[in-house]
Amino acid sequence: MAFTLPALPYAFNALEPHIDARTMEIHHGKHHNAYVTNLNNAVAGKPEESLSIEEICATISKYPAAVRNNGGGHYNHSLFWTVMAPNAGGTPTDALADAINAAFGSFDEMKTKFNTAAATRFGSGWAWLIKDASGKLAITSTPNQDNPLMDVAEVKGTPILGLDVWEHAYYLNYQNRRPDYANAFWNVVNWSEVASRFAK
Ligand code: MN
Repeated sequence: MAFTLPALPYAFNALEPHIDARTMEIHHGKHHNAYVTNLNNAVAGKPEESLSIEEICATISKYPAAVRNNGGGHYNHSLFWTVMAPNAGGTPTDALADAINAAFGSFDEMKTKFNTAAATRFGSGWAWLIKDASGKLAITSTPNQDNPLMDVAEVKGTPILGLDVWEHAYYLNYQNRRPDYANAFWNVVNWSEVASRFAK
């Protein structure tokens, strides 16, 4: 198979109490797994089978909806698991902290903008902190399983932090309280991973 489900880099319960074990188990083992299976089915026997998921995203307008939805789902969730970690949170440091201050004025202001993007994305989608082509940071959001790597994205850039705001990501623990889930997310953000994505 061209694409594989990456192992979760921590236990299902590692992000509790902020993200519950049952949600993580279903989210990784069922939702992400289904995106990988459906993506593999959609690219089977086609040239895109040998492309990276980033390469597919960059020219996503060439492909059918099954590749856009499941390819986006695979890229987005693969990033999502790595930008969270147990005993994480806190604040970014060094070059990433400087870039956040330069773009948003302060870390708190960046969080406010990100939380607003998460709360106001109607229906299902993602909130993102991205690095644009000039190296500057920006906040954006995308619908469904789209992402800012895609040529169809309104605001393009390289995601360095993303939050899944589909109901499947929070409903068991937070029900309709998406803003509470977005606030809790900051307790599990893996800033060293975000910094390493920023540095690339
Ligand atoms: Mn999801």
